[in-house]
Amino acid sequence: MTRFFAYFQRSIYGSCSFCRASIFFGALLLIIAANQSFAADCLVPADGASIVTLRAAPTAKSAIRGTLKRNELLPLIALMPGWYETRLSDGQMAFAAKRSTQIEVCPSEVGVVPSVADSEYELHAIDVGTGLAVLVRGPDFTLLYDAGSNDDTAQGDDNRVVAYLNTLQPPIQKIDHVILSHPHRDHVELLPDIVTRYSPSAVWNSGAFNNICGYRNFLFAIAANPSIQYHTATQDSGAESIEMTAKNCYRKKQPAQTLVLNHSKKISNETISIGKDASMTFLFADGSHRSSPNENSLVVRLDLGSRRVLLMGDAEAGGRKLPATLPSDTSIEGKLLACCAADVKADVLVVGHHSSKTSSRVKFLDAVNAKTYIVSAGPTKYAGIVLPDSEIIAELEKRGLVLRTDIEDASCLMSPDKVGLDADGQPGGCDNILVKFPRNKAISAEYRRISD
Ligand SMILES: [Zn+2]
Repeated sequence: MTRFFAYFQRSIYGSCSFCRASIFFGALLLIIAANQSFAADCLVPADGASIVTLRAAPTAKSAIRGTLKRNELLPLIALMPGWYETRLSDGQMAFAAKRSTQIEVCPSEVGVVPSVADSEYELHAIDVGTGLAVLVRGPDFTLLYDAGSNDDTAQGDDNRVVAYLNTLQPPIQKIDHVILSHPHRDHVELLPDIVTRYSPSAVWNSGAFNNICGYRNFLFAIAANPSIQYHTATQDSGAESIEMTAKNCYRKKQPAQTLVLNHSKKISNETISIGKDASMTFLFADGSHRSSPNENSLVVRLDLGSRRVLLMGDAEAGGRKLPATLPSDTSIEGKLLACCAADVKADVLVVGHHSSKTSSRVKFLDAVNAKTYIVSAGPTKYAGIVLPDSEIIAELEKRGLVLRTDIEDASCLMSPDKVGLDADGQPGGCDNILVKFPRNKAISAEYRRISD
């Protein structure tokens, strides 16, 4: 039976009870307490350079935003071809040319600044080629929603998501929450590595089984780490035995075996605190066997301070139809509109099903009423169709800013500057998207075009 939740959580995010300074020092204490061994990187003028010009963009022609003098230092935020990205004391981003700048280990009070600092929350849509991976972090939590690809399935350090996480400053040491929307390759394939490497505190999964290698390995990785709190929509606390048939995965035979998973509390409509001023709410969760795993997509709303992000996975509205068509009553979009249309309202929408015509109907988009739309898609065909569908993109563009991970797919294949292996001939790695949620300032969204 479909589990379906009405909304009963009311605003808990009204007033700010702590000022900017306390966020900074709170973050400082948290990071020092959580990770004594961490040493962040800072920028100083290179030997022989007395002053470095800081620019508004990573190009010598862009406006001057400040200077970095000898005996001064600034936090290193990101590495780019020829440039370092930094953040000034007023919160503005600035860029220093590599040839006149060098990296030093920061004193701890400066090293904390890059964590999230002025941008209180960040959302990264990682360009995984044809698939989805969304990282959200705040001063005191990190959450990953999906990590899969239909075309770039490189593992280990070449795993596109691992490579991207390694570009963040300070580097991600731990992921608190991992959510798998549904067990399709383009959402799960890169996730077993993540679970093994980052030992999440909690994993959230519909519980619907799909006998593909990526999903099998995802379950194996969870079972191998008893400290993970494993939540599904199918079962409350207790052990679950899954009979795994023998299967060849990645040229290795996995023998038939019984996998035992220890469940924590079942996913419900309760709002879950993920940080001091941040929470997540599962608006749709269904772990029963469906004709398509897309119908198992966990729809999650994140409340980040007073801002909301809606993550749809591959939730659909029916067959491939034009956006003006009403969602079918039995679809996830239809059910959400029927039960709790007010709950889907969000500032940022990570658009369902790679902006396919199966999803994002006008009526649903009206209820969401977002101003920023994130589209993750790539060049590999789904049943003969390359997504996104142009009709959906046109509809989104009427409503706000649309950023897409597929913009440079063709040139990215052999690009010398991408996240993961350069010029690897694989899609992805060029059009990462960064959405920032600074306190008391407008949400900003831009491409984070970097190499590692
Ligand atoms: Zn998908």
